[in-house]
Amino acid sequence: MTSSASLTGQTALVTGGGRGIGRAIAFALAASGAEVVVNYSSSAEAAEEVVRLITEKGEKAYAVQANVSIEDEVDGLIKTVLERSGRLDVLVNNAGITRDGLLMRMKTSDWQAVINLNLTGVFLCSRAVARPMLKQKSGRIINITSVVGLMGNAGQANYAAAKAGVVGLTKSTAKELASRGITVNAVAPGFIATDMTKDLDADAILRDIPLGTFGTQEQVAGAVRFLAADPAAAYITGQVLQVDGGMVMA
Ligand code: NAP
Repeated sequence: MTSSASLTGQTALVTGGGRGIGRAIAFALAASGAEVVVNYSSSAEAAEEVVRLITEKGEKAYAVQANVSIEDEVDGLIKTVLERSGRLDVLVNNAGITRDGLLMRMKTSDWQAVINLNLTGVFLCSRAVARPMLKQKSGRIINITSVVGLMGNAGQANYAAAKAGVVGLTKSTAKELASRGITVNAVAPGFIATDMTKDLDADAILRDIPLGTFGTQEQVAGAVRFLAADPAAAYITGQVLQVDGGMVMA
């Protein structure tokens, strides 16, 4: 455990924590002292590897399977965490997918799949943790949105709509839960090297990034760790923290 540990004794759930950005977030929160619940949908081996790498360092983690776009599975996930850990202090809504296509050719099933996971999944998980966090009178919810939700993107109407929805959901939830000491914020990555972005035209994208490079998973995880673990973040709620190399400046 590092000297920056400030989540000692706390439990953090990372949806989609077995791969990509979620994996880096799981490592960062475990290093801050949290017991990390690594949720996965289909990548059991990847999730178990994250758990192994964390526990090998003497930190705490376990994996729980659940498709977070399905209400019953979300409720089962939160029940499992509360039974096993006795508390839930940090929720990171990270799980997300893309099903890209131009508007006129976008299949309704692709629209719905993205909305169901990237927006409804965030709602389902946030609703399920609200009660235990309200009882504890503390909690931090961090939603991973995207710069695409702030600026739009041709070929990603479904994804942009879901991620913009997450921003509205974040602000509304922040207002509802603030009086009980629960903060709700969003982190908006720009382009980060993961499986999700591996097929994109890097040269075209880099031209739009003032800092001139893709971001790393660890840089996104650092922003999440700040919002989840830093005492200074206790006075920050309803905000969107961009980790985007300067792509979007309001
Ligand atoms: P990724 O490498 O494709 O990983 C996606 C993660 O989501 C996996 O862990 C996957 O787990 C999980 N997942 C997918 N469907 C799920 C479901 N139904 N239930 C639970 N988990 C599910 O993607 P990433 O790049 O790390 O993206 C993580 C988040 O960052 C997403 O919300 C994404 O929209 C956002 N983001 C990414 C970028 C970027 O440039 N990469 C930029 C902005 C925002 P399984 O394999 O087990 O399904």
